Amino acid sequence: MRRLWYNGKIASIDPENRIYQALGTEDQKIVFLGSSEESAALPWDERTDLKGALMLPGFQDSHMHMIHYAVHQRNVALFGVDSIPEAIRICRERIEQEHPSYLVAVGWNQEMMKEGRLLTKEDLDQISTEIPVCAIRACVHIAACNSVMLDRIREMKDAKPDMLAGVDYEKGHLRESAVDFYLDVMPPADDEEIRRLVRLAQRDMNAGGIVAIHSDDLQSVPGVAPDHVLKVFQDMERDGELTIRIHEQCLVSQAQFPALLALRPAEVDHTGMVRLACRKLLEDGSLGAKSAEMIDGYVDEPDNFGIANYTPQELYEMVRDAHAQRLDVACHAIGDLALKKFCDTVERVLREDPWPDHRHGVVHAQVTSPELLERMRALGLQAFIQPIFIDADMEVITQRVGEAHARDCYQWKTMRDMGIHTSGGSDCPVEPFDILDNMRAAVSRKNRAGDRTYLPEQALTAEEAIRLFTCDAAWSGRDEEVRGTLELGKLADLVVLDRDLFQIPPEDFTKAVVLETVVGGKTVYHA
Ligand SMILES: [Zn+2]
Repeated sequence: MRRLWYNGKIASIDPENRIYQALGTEDQKIVFLGSSEESAALPWDERTDLKGALMLPGFQDSHMHMIHYAVHQRNVALFGVDSIPEAIRICRERIEQEHPSYLVAVGWNQEMMKEGRLLTKEDLDQISTEIPVCAIRACVHIAACNSVMLDRIREMKDAKPDMLAGVDYEKGHLRESAVDFYLDVMPPADDEEIRRLVRLAQRDMNAGGIVAIHSDDLQSVPGVAPDHVLKVFQDMERDGELTIRIHEQCLVSQAQFPALLALRPAEVDHTGMVRLACRKLLEDGSLGAKSAEMIDGYVDEPDNFGIANYTPQELYEMVRDAHAQRLDVACHAIGDLALKKFCDTVERVLREDPWPDHRHGVVHAQVTSPELLERMRALGLQAFIQPIFIDADMEVITQRVGEAHARDCYQWKTMRDMGIHTSGGSDCPVEPFDILDNMRAAVSRKNRAGDRTYLPEQALTAEEAIRLFTCDAAWSGRDEEVRGTLELGKLADLVVLDRDLFQIPPEDFTKAVVLETVVGGKTVYHA
């Protein structure tokens, strides 16, 4: 199949930033780049007039949680609901329509509801007295559940005491870690359910112009072993069901690591749809919850230095074992102490077992310092950054680390200038996987409302922001030879937008409409 798109502005994002009018593909690959006139003389099976639209390499999100997103989409959304009877009505309606075996609702907030009080067991019993119902508040730190669900919790034999401590049977409330009990009422997902979740996610993401994601999913399916989740993705690739390239950021325990390695092919196929991209680690928590690990503690809570998920020895062993298999490591580190510990660990592992070609990296890298950035550069660590995070965090960061240190954080421009490889992601569902909004944040350094700016000197150009979500993201997964730019012989992963991001102010990026998304030469979305 030979396809041609002509009469457009085709921004290749190649090293010279070449612009063409026409692009032709044959099967999976790009075989023509040039003028509309030149292209007209060649044989094509299908021709599309772009009518001046902008074509870019397809978008890639370098860190997200695809399955988590899909699970959220299937839950009942109560965001903005303004009364308890309305919340009950919405939930009952879902039960009448779908006859589910359980119901999880998310996003309610009593501040928005007339009654101004938390949902209770009595409210949720009005939704169902037959299936477990759990309604998680928008903050995710508290949930309400019905009597059936409370009975299920009572019956659990191996529930952790710290989780049980958060259960209020009287009011039907679950607090903090007890909120996770909702996972236990869900029946274990079978393979078909995992496939449904992937289909839902890829449909929505393709519509956003996304052709590839780096996603952390292996622990997101309750009751299913991590390696099995990856295997279902591989089955879907074999069955030709995937329309998005999934680079899995594999979060597994040391005990689960060998089973994961068994699924790793001897030879990496860079043109495939599913990849065991890296080992994901989770060193610390978040700024919002004050669990990110801080060298100097929190300005607004000086005795709190955050929470480490691993001992230094555990972190060392996990990095070492992946490194020994020549598998890259991507470590979640938000606080500067977490980043320092990861730098220390990588330094030690590289000393013991040199691997010049490694692409280990840091997911988030928010709270930094000039010294830590220099260490990242010297160690060759890449950064998986989320430009959209400044929207929420520009308010919080000064309170957490103080004004002086806040000026050294979220250093996207400095990282690039230093030669630290950066790539862009959304951390969806923490933030929506809206690439254009992410680019807006990277270029404007403004919040969504447009009334606050954070470190404008760290702003990227439109071209740099596009690179973050195309060729730089391809590099982060070792795919720069085969995709991420529009060059002859590369995979035909494309996005067509109705307006030119190089010509409009960043505030207008989110007005751009995705007209078409193409993965491996096939159209997977059409407006
Ligand atoms: Zn994440």
